Amino acid sequence: MTETDPVTRLLETARGNPVDNPFRVTGVMMQYYHVCKRELWFESRNLEIDRENPTVVRGTRIDNTAYDENRRNLHLGMISIDLLEDGRVIEVKPSSALTKPAKMQLSYYLWYLEQIAEVTTDGVLAHPKERNRESVELTDERKMKVEDAIRGIYDVVSKEMPPPAVEKPFCDSCAYHDFCWC
Ligand code: SF4
Repeated sequence: MTETDPVTRLLETARGNPVDNPFRVTGVMMQYYHVCKRELWFESRNLEIDRENPTVVRGTRIDNTAYDENRRNLHLGMISIDLLEDGRVIEVKPSSALTKPAKMQLSYYLWYLEQIAEVTTDGVLAHPKERNRESVELTDERKMKVEDAIRGIYDVVSKEMPPPAVEKPFCDSCAYHDFCWC
C-alpha cells in the first residue's frame, strides 16, 4: 500500500480530519530540520534538557521584549505566531547567524496560514540586536521548499534512532551537546 504523502497527512491532521497516523510539525521542528537533523529527532522525542540555561539553544529569550508594543500572539493548531498590527507575521531572532533556518521557520508559518486559514500575508524576520529586519514572501519556490522540508522532517522523526552527530559551530551551545559529544 502506498504511504500517504506527509504533507497531506499534516494538512488533514491540522484540519481535524480523521488520519490513521497524525503528523504535526511545529515551527521549532522546521527550524531544527535546517539546523541539525539530530537535534530535530531529539526534539521530536520531547527530550528537554536545561532549557532555563541562558547559554543553551541559541537564545530565544530576546523575543519577549522586542516589538512587544506592536504585536499580537496567535495560536493556530500546530503553530504559534506573532502578528504585527498590519497582519504580517514577525519572527524575532537574536542574531542573523542562522538566517536560513529562521527564514524556513517563517516560511512555514506563512504556508500554514495560507493552507489552514486561507490567509495570505508576508513575513518579517527581525534581528533587533543588529537593528535589521528583512521581508519574507511566500513565493512558489518557497512553498515547494516548505513542502519538501515537511517530507524531510517526516523521514527524520519516523526513524527509530537519531541521525549520527555531525559537529557544527554551535554544538557547544546546544541543549543536546552531552548526548553527542560526551
Ligand atoms: S550538539 Fe551538535 S550534533 Fe548534537 S544535536 Fe546539538 S547541534 Fe546537533
